[in-house]
Amino acid sequence: MPDMTGSLTIGVDVGGTKIAAAVVDEFGKLIEHLRRDTPGEDAAATERTIVDLVHELRSRHQVTGVGIGVAGFISADQATVIFAPNLAFRDEPLRHVIQEQVGLPVVVENDGNAAAWGEFRFGSGKDVNDLLLVTVGTGVGGGVVLRGEIIRGTFGIAAEIGHMRVVPRGRLCGCGRHGCWEQYASGRALVADARRLVLVSDDAGPLLAAAEHDLDKITGLLITRLAHEGDRLCVELLAQLGRWLGEGIVNLVEILDPGVVLVGGGVSDAGDLVMKPLQAAFLDGVPAAEYRPLPEIRLASMGNEAGLIGAADLARQTT
Ligand SMILES: [Zn+2]
Repeated sequence: MPDMTGSLTIGVDVGGTKIAAAVVDEFGKLIEHLRRDTPGEDAAATERTIVDLVHELRSRHQVTGVGIGVAGFISADQATVIFAPNLAFRDEPLRHVIQEQVGLPVVVENDGNAAAWGEFRFGSGKDVNDLLLVTVGTGVGGGVVLRGEIIRGTFGIAAEIGHMRVVPRGRLCGCGRHGCWEQYASGRALVADARRLVLVSDDAGPLLAAAEHDLDKITGLLITRLAHEGDRLCVELLAQLGRWLGEGIVNLVEILDPGVVLVGGGVSDAGDLVMKPLQAAFLDGVPAAEYRPLPEIRLASMGNEAGLIGAADLARQTT
């Protein structure tokens, strides 16, 4: 057996509520996985948590580099977190800070890009050269790989697809603008729509009862569970989410022409309840659908670990 220990790297996924870190091998397999709460208010404390996790993993494994996926805008030279809406980082030289403290090569990547890379290397996109990942959780994120490379753009901010504007003067977004895609096609939008509709719909009875008549108890998980049981309102809510996703994917496919579109994130739990309306809206919206090859739209396969594994693999590619 060849010695494979030198090919281990650490992937870190820095989200708004959790920081996950793992040792990953060259086949994208998790060797050891740790998780801590994100001290979201404090950049220095967030960095200390990352460093602690790396030290702990290094005490048990021989690793050659660290890849960090961050939910934020990353500079084009992949050194600085320019802005992160749910983290304390503002113009933070994260690569330098972590590299100094752990003494290993570090790469910093946007979390959506890292997840797209993970799916491209080891997941649902490993059979194509060009893919679009749409991650639907609380918001909408994603990443683009074209010709086997992550598309980062001139300033490092490409593929912020959740803030693609789909409705002029539409719903107010967390980014401060109106009509962004994630205000219509995300978990947060699903719940907001449900809380609105439940007050006026004739089909609201079962959802209201399941939520004990408390709007705060209406969650994406509850809607998905009831929809799987056939509840009419919840089925329609997920179908509407799917249609909005399909609409946005039409635009992105027109620009990118990917070989495959992967849909990941919490919405995967809804399966066909979202994917069928999504497919229908996509086919209905894409120009000349019957005269051209179209990308397959699939569920992403790596779940929450795509970003972690993608970041670790990016560290391996650059170190
Ligand atoms: Zn926005």
